[in-house]
Amino acid sequence: MGWLKEGTRSWAIWNMKCPRCRTGNLFPTHTFSFQQPFEMPKRCPHCNQKYFPEPGFYYGAMFISYIITGWFCLAVMGILLLGFKMNVFGAFALLIFICGILFVWFFRISRTLWITIRVKFNSKFYKAQEEKH
Ligand SMILES: [Zn+2]
Repeated sequence: MGWLKEGTRSWAIWNMKCPRCRTGNLFPTHTFSFQQPFEMPKRCPHCNQKYFPEPGFYYGAMFISYIITGWFCLAVMGILLLGFKMNVFGAFALLIFICGILFVWFFRISRTLWITIRVKFNSKFYKAQEEKH
């Protein structure tokens, strides 16, 4: 799959990497470890890019999160009601359960998308540390 090739923008978003160097992690822990789910370092550990360039920077990520979650819920309900012929209460219970598990991922992918829209990639920083050795 070309769009998930290492070093591409989509790969960096999917793996929640710093948009400038595509090397440092945006979040210190794994999404499904559920430890420090909403913590982000102040700066990229690799290229020192600020992760909070201005106050309220991630306000816009809320709208991305809303759009993703909305379409996701519609899709899941459609599949459960029309595909699996579940009743509405069962489908809603399952949807709430799925959203409970994916909540942190939605939060993180929204912030990743938002900072990737706002911060330019600079190939100078991409894995620059490995070249030094
Ligand atoms: Zn970086």
